[in-house]
Amino acid sequence: MTTDQLQQRIRTLQTELAALGPIHPGSLSQQYNVCGNPACRCKDPKRPRKHGPYYQLSYTWRGKSTTRFVRPPDVAAMGAKLAAYKRFRQLTAAWVDAAIALQDLQRQAARPEA
Ligand SMILES: [Zn+2]
Repeated sequence: MTTDQLQQRIRTLQTELAALGPIHPGSLSQQYNVCGNPACRCKDPKRPRKHGPYYQLSYTWRGKSTTRFVRPPDVAAMGAKLAAYKRFRQLTAAWVDAAIALQDLQRQAARPEA
């Protein structure tokens, strides 16, 4: 790519980053539980049907791992934040790629002719 193309690519990445909206790191998982009631459906000896699904958000940030439940009405919004965070990471990585490539081109251009 040329210097102009790389600079245009960086501007495009910056525009998409600015439009991202809410982000959150991590992933969602589903949990099924059994309760303490021996007569409950979750303890049925033939066809146990566990309670759930319960949605759990897990993430690690600044070395600290966190897991918490997400209420069912909040699952869709959290899923959108997690997807936006993945895109955020892709965009910043692509920006760094382009910045390094641009620096290499500029360095070559400034090199005196042999
Ligand atoms: Zn139960």
